[in-house]
Amino acid sequence: MNNSFNHDTISTTENVTRPTRVIVDLNILRENFKKIKLHAAPAKVMIVLKANAYGHGLVRTAKLLQELEADYISVAVVEEGVLLRQSGITIPILVLGGIWGNQIPLFIKYNLAITASSIEKLKQINEYAGELNSKAKVHLKIDTGMERIGVHYYNSDKFIETAYKCENIIVEGIYSHFANADSTDLTHTKLQLERFNESLAYFDKHSIEHPVRHIANSGALLQMKETYFDMVRPGILFYGVYPSNDLPKTIHVAPALTWKSLVVYFKVIKPGHPVGYGLTWQSDENIRAVTIPVGYGDGYLRSMSGKAKVLLRGNVYPVIGTISMDQIIVNIGNDSAYNSDEVTLIGTDGNNSITSENLAEWAGTIPYEILTNINTRVPRIYLNE
Ligand SMILES: *Cc1c(COP(=O)(O)O)cnc(C)c1O
Repeated sequence: MNNSFNHDTISTTENVTRPTRVIVDLNILRENFKKIKLHAAPAKVMIVLKANAYGHGLVRTAKLLQELEADYISVAVVEEGVLLRQSGITIPILVLGGIWGNQIPLFIKYNLAITASSIEKLKQINEYAGELNSKAKVHLKIDTGMERIGVHYYNSDKFIETAYKCENIIVEGIYSHFANADSTDLTHTKLQLERFNESLAYFDKHSIEHPVRHIANSGALLQMKETYFDMVRPGILFYGVYPSNDLPKTIHVAPALTWKSLVVYFKVIKPGHPVGYGLTWQSDENIRAVTIPVGYGDGYLRSMSGKAKVLLRGNVYPVIGTISMDQIIVNIGNDSAYNSDEVTLIGTDGNNSITSENLAEWAGTIPYEILTNINTRVPRIYLNE
């Protein structure tokens, strides 16, 4: 195992901080968590921490959840789980992604719950656990209508039966995932829920106590109480962002992440002097412009070129020209700005705000992709430790 594997930030031996940084307000995350917990009760809460905790920093976010005595957390890949264990996280962790056989010993060594998504994988898990004289914790994955991983709901009886026959397996949970719960049209979500219930009928039929049942992501948590079962599984909502703007805001959360930088250069640009790669923009009058050390190499997506805006001295200004790998240029018109002035990429300055939803709209994507794309070379700073 490579111990230098680090999801949170690039690290050097020097104590320097890049002016371009992500600031995470831990108090906002604490509040969001409490609101979700209160709303979901008596169901337990599993917070999803995949993709560097949606950009918020995997290890620090997991430590916060441990401090808050979270019931459960989950990640996408086994390496994320190993890193958390090596960082002192002891609360239960489920790895949501599909597995390869040779990873199974790692799950067992680090006490990570495995997503079992076929009978064949159950048998592999059982065998590895037996060889290690150990028991493996699994959550059975049922495919109720997403066709990603999991045993189809119409084949699940045999799958569940096999799991309970494996003597080296502890069936800790059973779950499924919604494909369209962030839509206001709940037709497919209701169908998936029905199918999940069909699969779960196995336990009553065979008088077996059911393991922890979970299916509700943020969308379902916001709009369908009947999906909560024993545990809910929100990701984006915990970070304070709604999966879509059309959903009822039945839980009031606030975004915990801001993204800032500093002005590194000031100049006047004359008419007829194009700006940036591809010469896509030029002015027909003198303008003042500043350069900011952030670019698509940090996750400030190039597809936002021509649309993105930033905040500086409380005002909104457009990014001009094509977004480079490491730099952007901002048109401040006739206004003033100085080197080291603060620039807000996501967040609030005075009366103006820019949200991850704004960036998503400019880039033609969803806020999930904006947040998870903020590169690890951007340091994460935490407020309210
Ligand atoms: C990402 C993910 C979630 C969380 O989804 P949100 O929309 O962020 O709440 C829950 N379950 C699984 C299996 C996931 O992959």
